[in-house]
Amino acid sequence: MNIAILCSGGDVSGMNPALKRFVEYAKEKSLTPYFIYDGYEGLIDNNINEANYSDVAGIITRGGTKIGSARSKRFMESKYRKIAKKNLDQLEIGMLLVLGGDGSFRGLDIFYKEHGVKFCAIPSTIDNDINGTDYCLGVDSALNIIKTSIDAIRDTASSFSRAFVIETMGRDCGFLALISHLTSGSELCLIPEIEYDLTKYEVEFKKQIQNGRRYFIAIVSEGIQQESQEIADWFEKKIGIEARVSILGHIQRGGNPTVKDRLMAYKFVVNAIDTLLDGREESVICYDRFGFNFKSIEEVTGKKKELDKELLSYL
Ligand code: ADP
Repeated sequence: MNIAILCSGGDVSGMNPALKRFVEYAKEKSLTPYFIYDGYEGLIDNNINEANYSDVAGIITRGGTKIGSARSKRFMESKYRKIAKKNLDQLEIGMLLVLGGDGSFRGLDIFYKEHGVKFCAIPSTIDNDINGTDYCLGVDSALNIIKTSIDAIRDTASSFSRAFVIETMGRDCGFLALISHLTSGSELCLIPEIEYDLTKYEVEFKKQIQNGRRYFIAIVSEGIQQESQEIADWFEKKIGIEARVSILGHIQRGGNPTVKDRLMAYKFVVNAIDTLLDGREESVICYDRFGFNFKSIEEVTGKKKELDKELLSYL
């Protein structure tokens, strides 16, 4: 039996460890592993090759994905999905693992309904915004990059008596900002899930400066209603401290995968292949405090993910 893997949408650090485990575990299970390059684009263009141990040698330490990722407008059209199915049939590939976010999963669901290609989807996005799973591949690596960045910015902020507004990714999900705030000791955290009123911090922050505070760190999520520069302007005008903005941007997606992401990649892949071999044809593998479980695409994409209430209560 032949099985293939592809990466779709935003890449994350942890995809390469997943590819390595995919090749090893498929072979352990007497399956022939295939790589589909550049997401659904490669599926349409027949950019599909059998994968071997040598393809994954040494990649466990690298962020990104060796087989590329892409967004594919063509996969939205049924005529291209038909071509994709033909390509899989030619190589007798009947099972698919997809590393991606909810957009990629929606495409996969349609592909299954039209053509019956069995799949298991592995949530992979640094935003951690996929409903039904507490963890998405890549999140821990992103959090560690953010931690290192904030620690470095703190050094310069303290030397210069400045406020730093540090913007994290996450689209409309404040998970990265919230965790980074709680674990870096910042003074202010603004996320899309919580309405805020800056005026309520003014008296307190000014008092802190009078009592000797030399600098502020504010962590803001990219999805809040104001630009980060506006928050910096507020620090200058209302709090009376020089302010700078630091938008972390795509460095959050890259870098050496952490131990947690390597281990999660390993377990996601093993459990995903096992479930396909057990006969479950169309699922997303999810993770919570009880371990792994499997959900339908509808369950995962039908509802917006809510942040953990306990974590929110600390804000
Ligand atoms: P992510 O998976 O990170 O959320 P996107 O939302 O950009 O990323 O989706 C990735 C790709 O998934 C799209 O470029 C497209 O090829 C495919 N896709 C998303 N939605 C659909 C859909 N409704 N029908 C078919 N393909 C889709």
